[in-house]
Amino acid sequence: MTSARPPFSDATYDRAALHRSDQDWLAEAWTRARVVPVSPKSAVPVTADCRVAFRDAADATDGVRRFLGLVGEVAYFTVTTEPDGDNWTTLREFGLQADELDAGLVVSAIALEQWHQRHTHCPRCGALTVETQAGWTRTCTNDGSEHFPRTDPAVIMLVHDGADRTLLGRGPQWGEGRFSTLAGFVEPGESLEAAVTREVFEEVGIGVRDVRYLASQPWPFPASLMIGFFARLDGDASITLDPVEMAEAAWFTRDEVADAARWTDEQAQPDPSRRLRGISPKLSISRFLIDQWLDGAR
Ligand SMILES: [Zn+2]
Repeated sequence: MTSARPPFSDATYDRAALHRSDQDWLAEAWTRARVVPVSPKSAVPVTADCRVAFRDAADATDGVRRFLGLVGEVAYFTVTTEPDGDNWTTLREFGLQADELDAGLVVSAIALEQWHQRHTHCPRCGALTVETQAGWTRTCTNDGSEHFPRTDPAVIMLVHDGADRTLLGRGPQWGEGRFSTLAGFVEPGESLEAAVTREVFEEVGIGVRDVRYLASQPWPFPASLMIGFFARLDGDASITLDPVEMAEAAWFTRDEVADAARWTDEQAQPDPSRRLRGISPKLSISRFLIDQWLDGAR
């Protein structure tokens, strides 16, 4: 059985955006806040059972407060601070075991922090910008223009042949034997479907059709939104690699992919004679797409 959606993709709290400009409400909410501390490098403190080690407002370090949202009467904020213990870790490490609400809050907290770090100056005039709207905008100190958090759309696609094979690739930075689905950023002026078709052709030189959306996943390292598709081979299946983007790519059968998934999950010793010996970890939307395909989706 596979889950219906990728990790981090559910709405687990109310963003309550109408409160972001209400200073009185924010000040009152802070007194009963649960605070998600995040480090500038995207680490958060976690407990032994993989819950976020939330702080009370009184125990939170000084720093910029950003309002994340509400769960019932509980107001969640995030504050950026350097790690103050040895229990700080990253979402990549604890995300799979994390509570869905915790993971959702951390994803937003990290995405905001990464955006603020990278957008200190106005793109129009170059003057300094300051945080406004409880952390959800930046406003230029010179011309008053408002700037909103960036999310960069990236398509990620499982290419299949309509029968028993899928095409997986290995990036130059990955270990031998470890493959994943293809992916790439959407370019200005391009639809998602066109980006899927272009990226597949650029990376492996094949045509696809029947491009079908499945699910999306925020990936705040630093600002991606991964948008997942299936795409079906159209025409010749022979591969022409882009050697900059891809170290290798190949078609694999369901049995080969299922074995690699098991070896990856169980951290088991793979069959050394196989070309495919490991695939994307469970945390990723890549793996979600692969699991859907293994379950028979087209
Ligand atoms: Zn400006």
